[in-house]
Amino acid sequence: MYTAPIKDLNFVLHTVLNANALSSTTRYAEYSADVGTAILEEAGKFATDVLDPLNASGDRAGATHSTQSVTMPAGFRDAYEQFIESGWSQLGVEADIGGQGMPHVIASAVEEIWFGANMAFMLCPMLASGAIEALRIAGSEELKARFLPELVSGVSTGTMNLTEPSAGSDLAAVRTRAVEAGDHYKIYGQKIFITYGEHDLTENIIHLVLARIDGAPAGVKGISLFVVPKKLKQEDGSLVLNDLRCVSIEHKMGIHASPTCVMSFGDKEGATGYLVGEAHHGLEYMFIMMNRARLGVGIQGIGVAERAFQQASTWARTRVQGKPVGIKSEKPLAIIHHPDVRRMLLTMKCGVQSMRLLGLYAALQLDRAHSLEDAQAAKIALSRAELLVPIVKGWSTEWANELISTGVQIHGGMGYIEETGIAQTMRDARIAAIYEGTTAIQANDLLGRKLGRDHGATMLRLTEEAQQELNRFTSQGMNVEPAIKALRELHDVTEFLLIQLTNAPTQAYAVSVPYLMMCGFTMGAWLTTSASCIATQLLKIGHEDKEFLEGKIQSGQFYIEHVLPHAASLATVVRNGANSVVDANVDLI
Ligand SMILES: Cc1cc2nc3c(=O)[nH]c(=O)nc-3n(C[C@H](O)[C@H](O)[C@H](O)COP(=O)(O)OP(=O)(O)OC[C@H]3O[C@@H](n4cnc5c(N)ncnc54)[C@H](O)[C@@H]3O)c2cc1C
Repeated sequence: MYTAPIKDLNFVLHTVLNANALSSTTRYAEYSADVGTAILEEAGKFATDVLDPLNASGDRAGATHSTQSVTMPAGFRDAYEQFIESGWSQLGVEADIGGQGMPHVIASAVEEIWFGANMAFMLCPMLASGAIEALRIAGSEELKARFLPELVSGVSTGTMNLTEPSAGSDLAAVRTRAVEAGDHYKIYGQKIFITYGEHDLTENIIHLVLARIDGAPAGVKGISLFVVPKKLKQEDGSLVLNDLRCVSIEHKMGIHASPTCVMSFGDKEGATGYLVGEAHHGLEYMFIMMNRARLGVGIQGIGVAERAFQQASTWARTRVQGKPVGIKSEKPLAIIHHPDVRRMLLTMKCGVQSMRLLGLYAALQLDRAHSLEDAQAAKIALSRAELLVPIVKGWSTEWANELISTGVQIHGGMGYIEETGIAQTMRDARIAAIYEGTTAIQANDLLGRKLGRDHGATMLRLTEEAQQELNRFTSQGMNVEPAIKALRELHDVTEFLLIQLTNAPTQAYAVSVPYLMMCGFTMGAWLTTSASCIATQLLKIGHEDKEFLEGKIQSGQFYIEHVLPHAASLATVVRNGANSVVDANVDLI
């Protein structure tokens, strides 16, 4: 059974990151630690009572397709109704478009809980948030008035239709056509892998579709964004089917309850679509909203890794096998007493908690960017958030996969058997490092756009400020040196890579993923060390939750000794590993 990690989320949000400071801004004046805690507790109840019980049954039954419709597994419709009736679809949505306007950092913490409870279910609201964001950013007042209310209330769901058979990572290759037809366009083409492209949760589905207007320039500069509803509203308020259909759904490794659809637009007279923003600027709009969507997928990785940790932790305490080395015992003991099982569990625990710290730190930067009255501080927060998004997405999803695999290992043979549930967690999680841009695409973004656009200034500043922040704990006798040393190394490796980007870009891109992972492990060390130091301070002043705080310090120490060395070895790869990639003969691979 999944239990929301409310205590740790609270500690990260309100003690380590001090998210409650947002209440000093006009935009988030209503926010407080009490409000945040109450939201987390309600979300935790929804996760345990409604979402988690459908996780395994949804996986077994899966979504099913017949002719043109998709039927969701038993219980999903009811869960969705409860989800929207409780107003959850509106939590992080801006107040000016009908949402509750809560900070993104608390909405992200809640998302983590729900992804942990039922990833396949949560993809539906996550995609709707993406559609809301795209319309909010780029839609005309008329389009917003027409589509946002039903999306925000959850009466309709939303989708993102980007991928085509020959346009995956390379969206410049999009071939779906848009033909002008008066005040709207006719859309023709096929999209694949569309999450919740069809389902029976709501009557209408609002698709956002990337397409190329006839005569548009080739490449990325010729792509436009359209809103294409499944059903079109008539003047009398009735709904008629638009010319689009779900041709089939994929049979896939995991997230079986999330329908992954092949969509056909314009088989007959053309699907009616409305241009969002200006023609040929579609990809730009997608990139603006991708900050949130990619952060959301990073958070997804953290949620499923937490689920796996809970599964492994329970298993390790109940499975009895052998007499552990160093313990005098008449009878065999639970496997948690074997040093290696403890090592694996500690890796999972400190891994999940460090990813959570970085994910929520990045979300908080987005909130600061949108609420600080000091324009310069807001600008710095925005560029910091944008820098961190590919790291959170890439590092958290890649590492989540490894950590979940460790969770399977802790289960032994039973981990490979579906009955224990960890196999599903591993199957479900695998996609997170692939969709919303694979890890290589995140690393390209980190190097090409995020480091490239300001010559590394945002990254260098962050590594310097993080060192200063940790230095404050040195005066209180705490050992922060390993994390500071790692931050110094990240600073130096970044400078090295910046030179490579100018002089030998192929070499730089050959080690972009190791660099991204190094960033994650190093920033994880910074935030984990801060959290341990804060826990130490709280213990000194007699904080009542001794066990929780001691656990923090214990896993922080483990992180430094067992995880942080990965950053040093990745630094070696970044400095020395490019040529063996660049010079490799592809015929010999
Ligand atoms: C379950 C599921 C749900 C999805 N949901 C949606 C959705 O709702 N909407 C939507 O539009 N799409 C969706 N997708 C599509 C998803 O976003 C793409 O699969 C993903 O972006 C990768 O594209 P691709 O599959 O074409 O892989 P490819 O682009 O063919 O990539 C294959 C490999 O080549 C590497 N590669 C490609 N280009 C580069 C490069 N420039 N530099 C370095 N390496 C590169 C990749 O990293 C990867 O390892 C979904 C996919 C799945 C499986």
